[in-house]
Amino acid sequence: MAVVAFIGLGNMGSGMAANLVKAGHEVRAFDLNADAVAALVDKGATAASDLTHAVTGADAVVSMLPAGPHVRSVYLDDGGVLSLARPDAVLIDCSTIDVDSARAVAEKAAEAGFAFVDAPVSGGVAAAEGGTLTFMVGGPEDAFAKAEPILSNMGKAVIRAGDAGAGQAAKICNNMLLGIHMIGTCEAMNLAIKLGLDPQNFFDIASKASGQNWSLTSYCPVPGPVPAAPSNRDYTPGFAAPMMLKDLNLAMQTSKTAGVNTPMGEKAQTIYDAFVGQGGEEMDFSGVIKWLAGEMK
Ligand code: NAD
Repeated sequence: MAVVAFIGLGNMGSGMAANLVKAGHEVRAFDLNADAVAALVDKGATAASDLTHAVTGADAVVSMLPAGPHVRSVYLDDGGVLSLARPDAVLIDCSTIDVDSARAVAEKAAEAGFAFVDAPVSGGVAAAEGGTLTFMVGGPEDAFAKAEPILSNMGKAVIRAGDAGAGQAAKICNNMLLGIHMIGTCEAMNLAIKLGLDPQNFFDIASKASGQNWSLTSYCPVPGPVPAAPSNRDYTPGFAAPMMLKDLNLAMQTSKTAGVNTPMGEKAQTIYDAFVGQGGEEMDFSGVIKWLAGEMK
């Protein structure tokens, strides 16, 4: 079993770190928020007072941070992970960030001789807690081989997407599709209800018909059909709407640079931007159903 420094114990990181504890690893928990660290200590982790305490001598470092600037800072700053980690440690960033930041950190890590992978996840808080995430991994084959046994303690699938940044590329494309699907599912539900259909009945039909998709069957935006979905708890995240907006912004920046036509992605970005700006900031991304129904303007 390994000594694992876990950095970033928010909605996702807390469940992931708890699964590493359950798998028998010695987890050193670090977050800027002391309450988040204390919650992990209750689950069997060791509190790390700072980054140095967490990373020094650890076999593996796993980070789950909000965005690119946080990841660049945690890894590249003076006193950051690259200046603290053991030379043979494996470094795994599971945050969803821009491809450029992922590649910049990977390049510096490789220069310093570390095995580093970007390994963003698919699956929400329930999957993080249940250990059923899907990891999309970018990095050299030998770094992947070192990261895979740690990641498999937190997920049901660990798939190498290619070299540095490829995990983030896969994640951005996946989440653009998710944003589009969620909006489409909400529109269909709002229309079905307006036409007098019972939401549970329409759910039963569409989930067995060609409209079937994950946003409907695993994360239904209408309360009732999927008991674990955030729609049943007043759209408390879950996967917060600003995080979806962040991912759509990343996808749109990337599609422009790549010269790829993504009109549905652009529309989804516009809709999530409006939803977040008009009261959705604290809500789950499935709460966009309320914005689409005209309940928030
Ligand atoms: P979160 O905001 O709940 O957690 C982030 C944590 O990082 C916070 O506890 C914060 O205090 C900590 N943090 C920030 N800067 C730090 C630093 N310098 N050192 C130590 N800790 C620091 O976010 P989350 O929902 O857990 O998401 C984390 C990442 O996972 C994001 O990149 C997000 O896009 C991605 N993601 C989230 C979900 C989801 O359903 N929430 C699903 C898939 C992917």
